[in-house]
Amino acid sequence: MDLGIVDDELATCVACGLCLPHCPTYRVTGEEALSPRGRVAAMRQVQWDGAEPDASFLHSLETCVQCLGCETACPSGVPYRRLIEPARETLVDGSLSRPPRSFRLALRALRWHRLVLAGSSLLGVAQRLRLVPGGLARRLGLPARIPVRQARLRPSGTDVWLFTGCVMDAWMRGVHADVQRVVEAAGAGVALPGGGAACCGALALHAGLGGEARAAARRTLAALPGDAPILVDAAGCGAMLKDYGHLLGTPEAEAFGARVRDVHEWLADQDVEIARTASERPTVAIQDPCHLRHAQRNHAAVRTVLAPVADLVELDDEGLCCGAGGAYAAVQPELALSIRERKLAAIARAGSPVVASANPGCALHLAAAGVEVRHPCQILAAAMAAQGPSGPLQSSKSGKHRPRWPG
Ligand code: SF4
Ligand code: SF4
Repeated sequence: MDLGIVDDELATCVACGLCLPHCPTYRVTGEEALSPRGRVAAMRQVQWDGAEPDASFLHSLETCVQCLGCETACPSGVPYRRLIEPARETLVDGSLSRPPRSFRLALRALRWHRLVLAGSSLLGVAQRLRLVPGGLARRLGLPARIPVRQARLRPSGTDVWLFTGCVMDAWMRGVHADVQRVVEAAGAGVALPGGGAACCGALALHAGLGGEARAAARRTLAALPGDAPILVDAAGCGAMLKDYGHLLGTPEAEAFGARVRDVHEWLADQDVEIARTASERPTVAIQDPCHLRHAQRNHAAVRTVLAPVADLVELDDEGLCCGAGGAYAAVQPELALSIRERKLAAIARAGSPVVASANPGCALHLAAAGVEVRHPCQILAAAMAAQGPSGPLQSSKSGKHRPRWPG
């Protein structure tokens, strides 16, 4: 069976096993079939040797978090993302593997942002009336208090776009507001997309729904015209938007992807710094979202922008996935919880009461276990607020990026 994988890419694995310690599903199960090497071998058997895609094969691929920890660890340069994504899509298209119907309907609804916001508000009301069972809320990774009403974000210029997305805008718009304050303080006016850029499509692609993901990508591409940088404050969305060139295969999509920057990556390049305020520096443990560390490979920027305002503590697990993985925690809850236990242990060893995470999925997954999680830009915005309107935010940029304090 052709899984849609390029043969040369499938051939790159030399079965050395060096990726195994970096694979969360292998770490919690010890099963070769749930390791990157095992999954690559299984894909070869199906695509090259005519093996039937049986239940164990489907289980092997469906349990992959798609964290890409194996891709970073692999010395042979196996492009694991280019293997798992077409394989999952082929299996879903062939009805051999289907995400639950309710999940597919929820993904489809993400294209209508007003519907998402209205549904989210209703859920928030139901939550306050104690109509949402605790078990369901934990399984879906719902926030402890879903917003019912949120202040609107207002554009302040055209220097950069801020991608606001779907669920994050419904549940965490306050993070977008803090990101906007920080970006404006760096001297850039912020443009906001309309409802057309409601969803990047990452959740759909992760679930093997490639057609849905490409439709979302086309809408997003059309909603963010021009050549201004597109800043993203959710690592999973940023990784997705950067990969639109590959996803859509057009020069226009390639150019779009080149404009996308994780907001920390962009801030680090602006030469912006907030002077140290020793008496008020919080201690913060850094959790690297996989899509920042392994997919975008620019997790260092979070440290660069936070270091002036916080004492940073590293986790000792070499960036092992937390188990959130898009909707992974909802569709593979047992494995997701087992994987999270390892992350919680690493956080406990770090001994910091606050964890910084640049991805909403990771933040929700960890917060559901009682961890106090902040977006890095929330920490930056709090430091700016503590320093007051004459605070020492600085930028060496001249010209149109003039340093100024946000209103
Ligand atoms: S994916 Fe890379 S690290 Fe893992 S077994 Fe294959 S060659 Fe080795
Ligand atoms: S993407 Fe993550 S879960 Fe999947 S095989 Fe690679 S390391 Fe394991």
